[in-house]
Amino acid sequence: MRRALIAGNWKMNGSREANRELLDGIKAGIGEVSGSDLAVCPPFVYIPEVAEQLAGTPVKWGAQNVSHESSGAFTGEVAPAMVREFGCVYVIIGHSERRTLYGETDEEVAKKFVAARAAGLTPIVCVGETLEEREQDVTEDVVGRQMDAVIAAEGAAALAGAVIAYEPVWAIGTGRTATPEQAQAVHAFIRQRVAAKDANVAEGLQILYGGSMKPENAAELMAKPDIDGGLIGGASLKADQFLAIAKAA
Ligand code: PGA
Repeated sequence: MRRALIAGNWKMNGSREANRELLDGIKAGIGEVSGSDLAVCPPFVYIPEVAEQLAGTPVKWGAQNVSHESSGAFTGEVAPAMVREFGCVYVIIGHSERRTLYGETDEEVAKKFVAARAAGLTPIVCVGETLEEREQDVTEDVVGRQMDAVIAAEGAAALAGAVIAYEPVWAIGTGRTATPEQAQAVHAFIRQRVAAKDANVAEGLQILYGGSMKPENAAELMAKPDIDGGLIGGASLKADQFLAIAKAA
C-alpha cells in the first residue's frame, strides 16, 4: 500500500510573516492528519527559516528547483547539497513553469534528477501535457517522452528514490482540474511505463496529481488507484485548504 504525499509548491509566493502564519496554521492542525505525509516547498531564501519552524514536526520541506552542478561559477544557481544542508528532503524537478518559462529541456531535467539524488534529495519529477497536446491526442507521447528521459538517466531502479507528479499544464493555476478519470488514465500510463522496466519500483512509486487540486476535488482524485497524493500550488498557501486536502487523502 502506497502512502499518500501532499506537497505544497509555494512557487514565488510568501513573506517571512505570511510563511510563519501559514506554518503555524499547518502545525496547529497537523494532529488531525493521519493518512498522508506532508511537505512544503518554499522559495530558496525562506528554506532556513522554514526548517527551523518545522523542526520536530512531521512536516517535511523541499526546494522548488536546483542546479545540476555541484559548485562553481554558476551565478544565481543553488546546488542540491546546499538545500540538503538545510534539511530539504524533496526537490521539485522539471515543473512545467521551469520547462516553459525557463526553457528546461528533458535532458536538463534528467541531469537535475541525477544531481538531486546524488545529494540525497528525493526528486519530485513533474510531467504533463499542454492543452494543445491534449487536444492533438499526444498526451501519452509527451508524458512518455518526459518519463523516458528520466528513466534513461539512471535506469528505472533510481525511481525508487523519487516521486512523480503528473501535472497537466492546462490545469495548473487555471481552476480547471483534470477529471479523476482523465488523471487516473495518465497515472496508470506512467506506472505502466515504469513497470515495463521494473515492476517492483512501479508498484511502490508515489505518483501525485497536480493542477488546481483543492479540498472540493481532492478526495475523488485520490480515490483513484494510481493517484497517490497531490502537488498543490494555490491551495497550499492557505493552511485550512492544505490541511483539508491532506485529510482527504
Ligand atoms: P495549482 O499549481 O495547484 O495552483 O494549480 C500546481 C502546481 O503547479 O504545482
